Amino acid sequence: SLQSKTALVTGSTSGIGLAIAKALAGAGANVVLNGFGKPDAIEAARAGIESEFGVKAHYSGADMTKPEEIAAMVAEAERAFGAVDILVNNAGIQFVSAIEEFPLEKWDQIIAINLSSAFHTMRAAIPGMKTKGWGRIINTASAHSLVASPYKSAYVAAKHGIAGLTKTAALELAAHKITVNCISPGYVWTPLVEAQIPDTMKARGLTKEQVIDEVLLKAQPTKEFVTVEQVGALAAFLCTDAASQITGANLPVDGGWTAQ
Ligand code: NAD
Repeated sequence: SLQSKTALVTGSTSGIGLAIAKALAGAGANVVLNGFGKPDAIEAARAGIESEFGVKAHYSGADMTKPEEIAAMVAEAERAFGAVDILVNNAGIQFVSAIEEFPLEKWDQIIAINLSSAFHTMRAAIPGMKTKGWGRIINTASAHSLVASPYKSAYVAAKHGIAGLTKTAALELAAHKITVNCISPGYVWTPLVEAQIPDTMKARGLTKEQVIDEVLLKAQPTKEFVTVEQVGALAAFLCTDAASQITGANLPVDGGWTAQ
């Protein structure tokens, strides 16, 4: 059980991050949520976690492009709960464009949110983990940390980068009972993905099934989406004692995508 542990999950106001926060709360951890969204919806998610799982949940609106806000978020979590035992770097965005037309500010923003924010959170949280002699760092990478797709240069570069950062941190922390791993999902069923289907049906003159099989799940041999709960369950497993010798790993949850 993760009772008496605290988990900070970046980008946890929706999708995969929220599911990871719920899985860790379900195992007994207090959680710090982070991310953007409508204040009412965020408060409902925060209060819902407290009442459903009987843990404490805080919220930080820190912007993952801002190193000072990231350091303040970690300090505030440590002040509120005494420690950040579990750090999940999950915040991420996507932008699709050819390299020669890729907007400079989008490149910088994706590198900042999807890669550099994990360096800043780790830098702030590692001293406390070392002091306690226990820690778990989990990075949400992607199948795109292992393979590429065209027109996703910043995303693929950032995700390959976080896979490398994960290995380096794992080696630095291996003797401190702190494990560092990344989870690499393939296509995950989130509201974001679901919302794309009607437009793609119209644009390409396809049925819903064709959009799913021939467009979205083209690369995913199972032809099924990963669920956010499946990613959350793996994150929770990585926090158990059974997983204490798993470190520096990049664990795909991708229906066979990266086996090809
Ligand atoms: P999502 O859009 O549902 O969630 C992204 C979260 O990041 C939200 O909480 C959002 O508010 C937050 N966020 C965005 N910019 C931020 C910023 N500047 N500061 C703080 N928070 C910020 O998307 P998701 O699908 O749940 O993605 C979560 C992670 O999983 C990302 O790193 C993404 O790259 C990765 N991923 C997603 C898929 C997929 O198919 N959905 C596949 C592989 C990897």
